[in-house]
Amino acid sequence: MPNIPQIPLNDGKAIPQLGFGVWQVPDDEAQPAVAAAIRSGYRLIDTAQGYDNEEGVGRAIAEAGIGRDQLFITSKLRNGAHEYDAARKAFDESLKKLGLDYLDMFLIHWPVPDQDKFADAWRALVALRNEGRIRSIGVSNFLPSHIDRIVAETGVKPVINQLELHPHYQQRDIRDYHARHDIKLECYSPLGSGAVLDNETIAEIAEKHGRSVSQIILRWELDQGLIVIPKSTHEERIAENIEVFDFALDDEDRRRIDALDDPENGKTGSFPETMNDLF
Ligand code: NDP
Repeated sequence: MPNIPQIPLNDGKAIPQLGFGVWQVPDDEAQPAVAAAIRSGYRLIDTAQGYDNEEGVGRAIAEAGIGRDQLFITSKLRNGAHEYDAARKAFDESLKKLGLDYLDMFLIHWPVPDQDKFADAWRALVALRNEGRIRSIGVSNFLPSHIDRIVAETGVKPVINQLELHPHYQQRDIRDYHARHDIKLECYSPLGSGAVLDNETIAEIAEKHGRSVSQIILRWELDQGLIVIPKSTHEERIAENIEVFDFALDDEDRRRIDALDDPENGKTGSFPETMNDLF
């Protein structure tokens, strides 16, 4: 079973560098998918209130036969629960659905700029962390201006920002900001939700190494110290995506993938500036 590196966080804790994402996995499929992931050696599971599959994830955790302290469970606050009391209540519901008494990581899923309540949500996460019910707190889809605001209002920095990041959308312009503040980047849609798997340049590199395209993409991300959470509902792909610690890319491979960045058209998901859906 692969030995997954731990990435240190600015609150003294650490997170596995590779985990398993379950967006768009229906609740009844989440249990077998997460069970397969845990069998393959994944320990970080990334769900969200908005994915409607926390119960399925919880069933897999309960049946995994692995000590709770060996697992790293992340969930995310839904957009419609940013008010302080609503955020606390929503967190309680997540714990109940997951069958857990604490979370390793809880994130604000989106800033929702039209609603403008993300600082209240952050206060709730800080309180829950101080009460010991969440080990580490972070954000997702936050722009630097959103992070500056929550830090100014509470004095507490997020440990990670979970953002769309893959070869077609490399987020180069915000990397310095996060490094300066010691906020780690966690790549969501690390395979571009599948869109990067057709890339011919990466297919050539994959052939050269006798590896899959998916493995090459994940290796390129890991080489940059990024945290990755690929999703699959196929057991053989779940296993393939974690077998990325026994080969190395060379400088030429990395340069060729770096050159695939397409900030204008490479994004597959929603934009933080305009995502205001209250799920
Ligand atoms: P990924 O970038 O992980 O790509 C998943 C797609 O690639 C699926 O279609 C999957 O198909 C396919 N795939 C995966 N592995 C392989 C493989 N080895 N060979 C061939 N095809 C493969 O997509 P996601 O968008 O799901 O992102 C990953 C995770 O990031 C999410 O599950 C979620 O946890 C998180 N996320 C967070 C967001 C946020 O706003 N914070 C937004 C989006 C994602 P199949 O399943 O059929 O195998």
